Formats: sequence, structure tokens, C-alpha cells
Amino acid sequence: MWKLGAARAELLQMLSDRLRTVFAPAELWATTEPDTLQIMKVGAQQVLANHWDRRDKWLEGIASVAWGELPAEGANRGEGYTLAMQRGPKREIEEVKVEMVAGAAYVLMGHAQGHTRVCQKHCSGHNRCNCCWTHGVRMAPTSTVTRHSMTLRVLADGDSDDEDGEEDDEEEQETSLAAESGATTSAVAPEAI
Ligand SMILES: [Zn+2]
Repeated sequence: MWKLGAARAELLQMLSDRLRTVFAPAELWATTEPDTLQIMKVGAQQVLANHWDRRDKWLEGIASVAWGELPAEGANRGEGYTLAMQRGPKREIEEVKVEMVAGAAYVLMGHAQGHTRVCQKHCSGHNRCNCCWTHGVRMAPTSTVTRHSMTLRVLADGDSDDEDGEEDDEEEQETSLAAESGATTSAVAPEAI
């Protein structure tokens, strides 16, 4: 993850403007601008375990676009994947699976993101609660290509996106989903962004 230079910042602006427009009903980034970009890979048939992105590090609105590595059989976008949302106590976890086509975009907001501000326990860091959703990625057992993703986030004031130090688990994690709150999810096809 890194802060963006001028050319990258312009590309980010184009992408973020599209996402803001598509997710306008959810008021994505209504008063903020994403200022960090994460590029990530998840191998074929792999699982990205469920997690929260650090709950007090990012302001509301985390957006991802993911697609498959080339060459891909069939569609050039590659293979889809499953976005798995979970919440609740460990012994009775509630799970919602969202089938994502390659190239689709999704956002995390509200309880789907689990920001400290919306959490009933005001959890910070990666602390656990039962009211906010975690997200994870499941590649199909038959998948043959790596999943690539771009994730845009807004760094909270006073935080720094240093490359080292305690930075992150987010290096191994990823971000996902779309939902304003609770179990409401949304995803859009690449044509829409
Ligand atoms: Zn919570």
C-alpha cells in the first residue's frame, strides 16, 4: 500500500469518480476522497480468511474492483469468486455469500465495514464484536487463475500509511463488500463503472 504520486493520483481520481457515481445511492465518499490504493493477489483455490480492515484506521467507504489473471479460459475478465460476509458469536456465525463476477466492484460501508464509529462496542483495531460484519474471499475449488484486486480507502486523519512498522495485516488481507448496513449488499458489473 502506498501514497500516490501525481500520475497515479489522476488515475485514482478517475476510478474513484466512477465508483462514487455508481454508489451514489449509498453516499460513498460523499465528503471524502480516497487517498490510498492497495493492489493484491489471491491465488487460485485460495481462501482469504474473514477479517475486519483496521476499524479505526480507515474512514467510511472501502471500495474494491477485482478480476482474474490472464490468460483466462472463457471470459477475459477471468473467474469470479465468492465474497463471504460473517458476523455474530463464533458458535453461531451468520454468513452471507455474495457471488461476484470478475470485474465487478463492491464497497464496504456501515456495519459491513465495521468502523469504530458505527460499532455498538466502538471496537478499534481488529477487535472483535458481534454487531459488525467481517469479509473474506473464497476462490472456487476449481478455479485456475489468480485474483487481482484494487482497493481504495480513505486514511483517517492523524493516521499514517507507513509501509513498515505495525502496518498490516491489511497486506495479507483485502477488502470487500458492499452494504450500507446490516446485510444489505450491492455489487455492480464492470460496465457500470
Ligand atoms: Zn460492532
